[in-house]
Amino acid sequence: MKSTAEAVVIGAGIMGCAIAHALAERGLTDVLVLERDQIGRGATADAAGGVRQQFSTETNIRLARESIRVWETFPQRFGRDIGLRQQGYLFLLTDPAEEPVFRQNLALQNGLGVPSRWVTPEEIAQINPHVVLDDVYGGTFCPEDGWCDTFGATIGFAQAARALGVRIEEDTPVTGITTDRGRVTGVRTEQGEVSAPLVVIAAGPQTRQVGAMAGVDLPIDPYRRMSFITEPFAALPQSLPMTIDFATGLYFHPESRGFLFGMADRDEPSTTDKTVDESWMAATVEALVARAPAFEEAGILRGWAGFYEVTPDDNPLLGWTGGPEGLAVAAGFSGHGFMQGPAIGRCMAELLLDGAPSGIDIAPFRPSRFAEGDLAQEHNVI
Ligand SMILES: Cc1cc2nc3c(=O)[nH]c(=O)nc-3n(C[C@H](O)[C@H](O)[C@H](O)COP(=O)(O)OP(=O)(O)OC[C@H]3O[C@@H](n4cnc5c(N)ncnc54)[C@H](O)[C@@H]3O)c2cc1C
Repeated sequence: MKSTAEAVVIGAGIMGCAIAHALAERGLTDVLVLERDQIGRGATADAAGGVRQQFSTETNIRLARESIRVWETFPQRFGRDIGLRQQGYLFLLTDPAEEPVFRQNLALQNGLGVPSRWVTPEEIAQINPHVVLDDVYGGTFCPEDGWCDTFGATIGFAQAARALGVRIEEDTPVTGITTDRGRVTGVRTEQGEVSAPLVVIAAGPQTRQVGAMAGVDLPIDPYRRMSFITEPFAALPQSLPMTIDFATGLYFHPESRGFLFGMADRDEPSTTDKTVDESWMAATVEALVARAPAFEEAGILRGWAGFYEVTPDDNPLLGWTGGPEGLAVAAGFSGHGFMQGPAIGRCMAELLLDGAPSGIDIAPFRPSRFAEGDLAQEHNVI
């Protein structure tokens, strides 16, 4: 491993790979990405692959909108099919108090060019005729939203970055961040030290521990989320949208001739337990069958657990950490990071190289907002 680089990126998830690629595209090719495991095997591997534009904050809508344009053209730009299926995101609402909030969010989304719309129960029955609507008074739908292959997308960024000269070292955990007189000077690994004037932490759910290596408090904690996939199942059509019961967080979408589904256990505290909890699986299946009874006939192929990387306002930390000069962070996407990868890559590269990104104001997600008490709460968290 070379012992110097112009920039070190810690973590080769979707963020580390997209940032490294964007830096290289802008001419900073002497970039070293250090990954403790393998490319794309962190939170990114555990994601449901959803890509949506239905957010409540302008920054998230803009990040998602720019990213979806990249996902749409990924095969042409990166030479890789990521299986993008733009079959829409359908939010089902059961709490009338949500209507004004969702309508306000729709206005914001529409103003930024997102073709999302309010849907009545009758319209929902046409979009997804298989859901029980007794308690649903309305919802929102965006036909451009969908899902794709997270691992393929991450590998696509990694390969494109490598082709531009970026080095990505797997099985290389960063064990320390070195500083001198208030400036970052590099990182420590079991394979030796690397000196670099710029270090970017993109360590997903492990970011708090990595920040602590430089004495920086980055408020990101892991929360377990479980997903399940059914065996091939023909009782429901593969054309259905991603369907979300907003109140419970239950979601399902077609995947590999079956369906992928999950539900957040919002009462579970932060944990590092990555096993599947059988009782939560039973609760999830019960909620799924209650909402879409056809699933009663489905067999479960497998389930897995991963970690949301949650911050106090469900939005990421993007920019300089406020610790040693030259230490930046892009992490804490609170369960909606995969979809924003392309735009985060560009914005972070421009912030690091030019001082600020063009087009999207990411200042609301500056790491210092927690100390300033100026949170940027995202409402549409699944
Ligand atoms: C069940 C589930 C469903 C989800 N569904 C969606 C979805 O539908 N849509 C969506 O957009 N998002 C979804 N997400 C969230 C999404 O997975 C994350 O927001 C996103 O993948 C974060 O990417 P990342 O690169 O920041 O983190 P990661 O993918 O975790 O990458 C960080 C990398 O850093 C490495 N690392 C950590 N510490 C060190 C160290 N000391 N040294 C070197 N390397 C280190 C890790 O090994 C890891 O590979 C979901 C998450 C889960 C768990």
